[in-house]
Amino acid sequence: MTYNKATVLLREAGIENAEIDAAILFEHFGGIASHSLPFMKNEEVDSPELEDAIKRRIAREPLQYIIGEWYFYGLRFTLNADCLCPRPDTELTVETAIKNLPPRAHFCDIGTGSGAIAVSVLHSRPDTTAEAFDINENALSAAAENAKLNGVSDRIKFEIADALAEDFLDGRKYDAVISNPPYIPASVVPTLDPEVLLEPHRALDGGEDGLDFYRAITKKAKSVLLDGGFILYEVGIGQAHDVAAIGAEHGFTAEIFPDLGGIDRAVLLRKAYNSKGI
Ligand code: GLN
Repeated sequence: MTYNKATVLLREAGIENAEIDAAILFEHFGGIASHSLPFMKNEEVDSPELEDAIKRRIAREPLQYIIGEWYFYGLRFTLNADCLCPRPDTELTVETAIKNLPPRAHFCDIGTGSGAIAVSVLHSRPDTTAEAFDINENALSAAAENAKLNGVSDRIKFEIADALAEDFLDGRKYDAVISNPPYIPASVVPTLDPEVLLEPHRALDGGEDGLDFYRAITKKAKSVLLDGGFILYEVGIGQAHDVAAIGAEHGFTAEIFPDLGGIDRAVLLRKAYNSKGI
C-alpha cells in the first residue's frame, strides 16, 4: 500500500481529512514518521497491520478505536469501543473544573467512559480526589488503565452504576458533580456520522429531547453537594439555556461557558443560598 493510494481510498470512502488520517495510520502502523511522508508518497509500505487498519478506516471505524489510544488535554488515553472517543469540545469542561474546584475537592464524574474528564482534572489538580461512574464495565476498565497511565490511580475510585437508577448517589457527598452525559436527542442519533454510530449508543442517546440525564443528575445532585458545591455539565449545541432552566427548577444559579468556536458548551450550576446563607 502506498500513502497516495491510501489517501485516495479513504477519500472515496467519504472521509474528509483523508490525508491526515492516512498519515496517522502510516505513522502508527507503518512506522513512517509524518515528516518523511512527503518524500515517500508512492513508496510501497508492506505491512498487514497497516492494510487492516486502512480497511477498518474505510469502513468508517473511528481512527481513535483503530489506533486504540488518543490524546486529550495533553494526556494519552487508551480506548476501546465501549468508550466514547474523547473530543476536544470536552476540554472546556476540564478547564472549567480545574479553575473552579475548591482546594482538596472531592468530585464525581458521571458517565466517565475512558475517564478523560476525571483523569485530566486529577492530573492538573493533585490536591483533589474523585469517584467515577459508568454503566459499562469495559469502559471502566479503560478508565482505570488511563488513571494508572497518567499517575492518578491512587486518587480515584471507579464504580459501575446507572445514573438513571432511583438510588444513584444515595448517601454520597461531593464538592462537585461533573458530567458529560449522553445528550443527543434519540431521534437524531441515527442521523449521526458513520463513525459516531460505531461509538456506544448509550453514551450518546439522551432520551427524547436529549435532556434526560441533566434532569436526573440535577435532581440527585441537590442532596449530595456539600456547601458551596457545584454541578458542571458539558452540553450539546443549543442546550445550555435548557440545562440552566433545569438547574433553576432545583434552586441552582447557572454560569454558561462558550467554547473556542463560540458554542455554549459547559454549564456550571451553583447551589443558591438564601439571604441567611442557608
Ligand atoms: N459530543 C458528542 C457528539 O456530538 C456527543 C457526546 C454526548 O452525548 N455527551 O457526537
